[in-house]
Amino acid sequence: MLHIAVIGSGPAGYYTAEALRRQFGDDVRIDVIDRLPTPFGLIRAGVAPDHQSIKAVSRRYEATALTDNVRFVGNIEIGVDVTINALRGLYHAVIIATGAPDDRKLGIPGEALAGVIGSAALVGWYNGHPAFARTDPPLQSDAVAIIGAGNVALDVARVLAKSPGEFQGSDIAAHALAALSAARIRTIHIIGRRGPHQIAMTPKELAEMAVLERALPYVAPADLPPEGEDAALEPGLRKSVGLLRQFARGNGRDAPVRIRFHFFLRPIRIEGDGHVERLVLERTRLDETGNAVGTGEEAVITCGMVVPCIGYRTHPIPGVPYDERLGRFVNDDGRIAPGLYCVGWARRGPTGTIGTNRPDGFHIVEEIFEDIRAGGAKEGRAGLDRLIAERGLKAVTFQDWKKIDAAEIARARAGAPREKFIKVEAMLSAIRE
Ligand code: NAP
Repeated sequence: MLHIAVIGSGPAGYYTAEALRRQFGDDVRIDVIDRLPTPFGLIRAGVAPDHQSIKAVSRRYEATALTDNVRFVGNIEIGVDVTINALRGLYHAVIIATGAPDDRKLGIPGEALAGVIGSAALVGWYNGHPAFARTDPPLQSDAVAIIGAGNVALDVARVLAKSPGEFQGSDIAAHALAALSAARIRTIHIIGRRGPHQIAMTPKELAEMAVLERALPYVAPADLPPEGEDAALEPGLRKSVGLLRQFARGNGRDAPVRIRFHFFLRPIRIEGDGHVERLVLERTRLDETGNAVGTGEEAVITCGMVVPCIGYRTHPIPGVPYDERLGRFVNDDGRIAPGLYCVGWARRGPTGTIGTNRPDGFHIVEEIFEDIRAGGAKEGRAGLDRLIAERGLKAVTFQDWKKIDAAEIARARAGAPREKFIKVEAMLSAIRE
């Protein structure tokens, strides 16, 4: 019998478990271990609460989780409760699928001021992630600056711009809905350090900006390159740029909230007396390799909150080699060391869609196939259970999660799919009830 541990129960973790089952059939036992009592990682805590259709993919992961040879072991943190070396001693292979939950830093003066809230923290806050539920974004300010020209910047802008009624049918956390309902934000700046042709925003997500109840997107026509140059773009990007052109033309409507796109501006410092008051930017131009370089010309945006949406880093695990510069584990196409592998964002960084993790999971199974066959007998899940019992830890099973799930569904406000528990203790209480 092969024993395999997958650390992390998000898309990369469950696609890998699915691939392992297909490869090894009844000859494998897979433990999917998560630090939270709840599975599905990014699907639960990263995907925007008003994008419920994307969250439906968790049903596929549940089908894998409920098979006889896959087990969910929640509420156990590898590197804290159990070391990576202990785990490697118990399983033929350990596959790290922990994603990239930490914010990348801007590295500019003023980043530590109150009111600078990275996208991981803000998204975690409105999604009810226990680690970020206490984030207290200053929503009483008139203006907010979002840094980055990717889809996370659009998620954050949309959530900040929506009226309470537009969250109908979403699972936004109650504390966030209450705070957003009382928010006074009038201008949401989205700031790209390069130009409209270099955005990482996809058409579907950009199109959503034009159909908001009380907000309208604005682009300065002067920021757009000559229209003829769009022809050389890849079709998806061309469509996105076409939407920016529509935003620049306007539609004759006005709205109380403005979403203002800026380009060719890079943040150089954040200023304020104890909290964010201004974001200072430098105008950029593209060099011959397409990178943004400063021109020395400064611009200032007055705002009470800065939200860097500039990408994520994998959280280090003691005992696993980590590349500080890239913010992920040192690996060669998924191999870290004999019997130790990584997949998904922990392997390649925070890029691609949820579905990108599927071939990733299948790829790693092929990679490790021979290594695993060469290994001797391992204790597997019985050994992990022994460690958990010895240390007085409380592991959460998939059936336990289904109790949390049912309790969250039962306490949902009208029209919402669930009301998440935001404290681990409350999740564990729901299991006991
Ligand atoms: P992203 O797509 O990599 O975009 C990051 C943005 O931040 C880029 O515009 C980048 O500019 C900018 N940036 C990086 N460092 C910067 C700095 N120091 N100063 C100023 N700007 C900086 O990352 P993301 O938005 O976090 O998204 C992560 C992944 O999740 C992406 O693959 C995304 O498509 C996906 N996602 C998808 C959805 C959806 O499909 N609905 C929703 C959310 C996220 P440069 O290009 O110049 O580096």
